[in-house]
Amino acid sequence: MYMLYTKGYKYRIYPNRAQINRIENIFGCCRFVFNYFLTLRRTAWKISGQSINYVLSSRILTSLKKYRPYVFLASSDSMALQESLKDLDRAYQNFFDKRNSYPKYKSKHFHKQSYRTRNVNNCIRVEGKHLILPKVGKVKIKLSRSFKGRILNATVSRDPSGKYYVSLCVEEELIPKPNAGGMTGIDVGLHDFYVDSNGNHIPNPKALRRYEKKLAREQRRLSRKVKGSKNSKKQRREVSRIHEKIHNLRTDFLHKESTRLVSENQVICMETLKVKGMVRNHHLAKSVSDASWSRFFSMLKYKSMEYGCDIIQVSTFFPSSQLCSCCGYKNPVVKDLSIRKWVCPCCGAEHDRDMNAAINILKEGMKLLTAA
Ligand SMILES: [Zn+2]
Repeated sequence: MYMLYTKGYKYRIYPNRAQINRIENIFGCCRFVFNYFLTLRRTAWKISGQSINYVLSSRILTSLKKYRPYVFLASSDSMALQESLKDLDRAYQNFFDKRNSYPKYKSKHFHKQSYRTRNVNNCIRVEGKHLILPKVGKVKIKLSRSFKGRILNATVSRDPSGKYYVSLCVEEELIPKPNAGGMTGIDVGLHDFYVDSNGNHIPNPKALRRYEKKLAREQRRLSRKVKGSKNSKKQRREVSRIHEKIHNLRTDFLHKESTRLVSENQVICMETLKVKGMVRNHHLAKSVSDASWSRFFSMLKYKSMEYGCDIIQVSTFFPSSQLCSCCGYKNPVVKDLSIRKWVCPCCGAEHDRDMNAAINILKEGMKLLTAA
């Protein structure tokens, strides 16, 4: 089997002073291009009802670089500027398709800055402990994971605490890995990250809880500081440091859990994400953040390709909690989220709420799989 797929790899990079200046300069140029063409597109539409698409924007940008006030753009990373135009175009597309609000201007003061650049003629490559980046040079990189494949593009970013990162989008050849052939249904738990149909409760990492409490405390502390003061800036850095710690802990956890699932199972059944509904429920909002579940799902999806397993999604409308997994009786009383254990009035089976739901999800998923 020969198949290509793309995968993201994020690494910390350590640019020196001069390289930082160059990176910051590209951030600025990309922001400028984005904002300039946002204004242009808005105005053109307002005045003449003309829409300026990506192709036209790109042509205008080329001529813009020749005019004195804008020559600084000519010395910047041209691919990055093009990508910035594409981002703007995508923002408009999302607006037209009603997926997002009208594009907003990019601010220099936004807590995270980034730009994306494309790999043309191998201009982006790893050489030993360095990454070659166009217009920036040979930047020290910490290659925490190795990759084998062609770099398609690179996104350089600076986080709120002032650290620099690069995300490489790599095209890799799919090398199938074996899975243990199990079958499992998973249910988003009330207290746990999830519960599976074999009765395993996968808790959220304890350390995560601890840091979340700490974050709440430090955020309260920040809100009491005078805005713009030295202390407030210091506190803001502390808050973003904890944010980062939480993000890293969660990412590790999600990677570990998703790899375990795909390596142990041939079939994984789960409900379609009902993120919006979950957040409204304050019990769940605490332990399950929407972002973390959709990240988990996308990890499962790309890893399932490597391990050759099936991920079956069961409709949110399927009453997984209310059905008795032994006899199929529907017990509407169980709708009440506080009921953790129940006995089926029809067949007398004793159920743990989440495990019962997970078994139902597995059964329903298998039905869908055999029907397909
Ligand atoms: Zn029953």
